Amino acid sequence: MAVPAIRAVVVDPAPELRDAVVTRARELGVMGWVRQQDGALLVHAEGDPDTVGALEEFLRHALGTRVQTNPVALEGHEQFAVRGVTAGVFVVQEHRATAHHFDFRLEVGGVMRSWAVPKGPSLDPAVKRLAVEVEDHALSHNTFEGRRVIVWDRGTYEQGGRVPWPEALDRGHAVFVLAGEKLRGGFALQRTAERQWLLIKRRDEAARPGSDIVAERPESVLSRRRLVQ
Ligand code: MN
Repeated sequence: MAVPAIRAVVVDPAPELRDAVVTRARELGVMGWVRQQDGALLVHAEGDPDTVGALEEFLRHALGTRVQTNPVALEGHEQFAVRGVTAGVFVVQEHRATAHHFDFRLEVGGVMRSWAVPKGPSLDPAVKRLAVEVEDHALSHNTFEGRRVIVWDRGTYEQGGRVPWPEALDRGHAVFVLAGEKLRGGFALQRTAERQWLLIKRRDEAARPGSDIVAERPESVLSRRRLVQ
């Protein structure tokens, strides 16, 4: 019986092995991902059993490596992705306009894709925050503060999910991992109607059920200033 997917752990990988695995997997048309973690290389591979087997062979013959392979459940990937690498920056700007909101921005393709989140982000996975898609902004706007704007959080992010970016955004479901000062861990943006999305914290070690990060940490991460009511 064909194994639908495998998870391989390569101990003491050569530094160039990650990129070589990506190249080989994409040549073979294998779907999944690779991640460097704690001195090992983790590989998830799925697709045609012959090509998954060919990638496994490639790992076994990589010079000076020890490989452990286990069958795992199919995850339904549509790409072979590199995990654990930064895709760009993110910023959240609190904006006291006619309607108070938080502008959540992700760097995608050289611009900041932007959503206006009236109640701001949450670290509580049970909370779904409305996020209205607004016009892209330039990266140069990321550090802007003014009388009505502060930089509420910023950092870098990793792209996740089974679909490559920016197609994931085009299809209305994007998963990503934030590394900011206030916002950390996995999040999802799920489109529910034209330009209307939900911003949802995923359940992981960075989730804080019952918390209200917007109320707990109102200060700017740049100036420590707060917006006055
Ligand atoms: Mn705004």
